[in-house]
Amino acid sequence: MGKGKARIFAIRRRLATFLSALSLALCVATAIVWVWSYMWQDGVRVSAGLLTTGVGFGGGQVAITAIIEAPSSSRRPNGHIDWDQRPGGAAITDAIDSDQPGQWAKLGFGYIWDSPTFGTRMFAIVVPCWFVLPVLAILPALTVRRILRRKHDSGSCGNCGYDLTGNTSGTCPECGTKTKGAAAYAPANEAM
Ligand SMILES: [Zn+2]
Repeated sequence: MGKGKARIFAIRRRLATFLSALSLALCVATAIVWVWSYMWQDGVRVSAGLLTTGVGFGGGQVAITAIIEAPSSSRRPNGHIDWDQRPGGAAITDAIDSDQPGQWAKLGFGYIWDSPTFGTRMFAIVVPCWFVLPVLAILPALTVRRILRRKHDSGSCGNCGYDLTGNTSGTCPECGTKTKGAAAYAPANEAM
């Protein structure tokens, strides 16, 4: 087990921590948006050429949209940002008519796959906040559990969490990290 393997574990752990932090930030943002969306319906769109992508929220729902203009359309300047806000906070799925082709909505979920004008393509997906919040909480929860486990369980590798009970080599067999020393990981009953 070389240094290379230990480094890969360290990079993987750092990436996991970063993704957890990002997920936690999005989780908090979703909680704020959830409450806010009952008072206001907001939408932000960013354009680049013929593509416009957007995020909208209203009535406890979040929508992600993409519109591709017809090739004949005038291109919008890259990075052009639109923002609109409407009071009331109506649910986004209120605007979806499941009887229309390319439109579907149920229980706060929904999608639109449409061609509003000739050559234009529009795609929207709507997800309720009650669904988004727990999904975003999974990674942070796993990270917290991992940290708590490591604190309680001194008989495991500080880098990868591998169980080092009975290990006397002074090196983690899983990732190659130097351990605190053989004695520290001897089984408790052996010391008695
Ligand atoms: Zn290890």
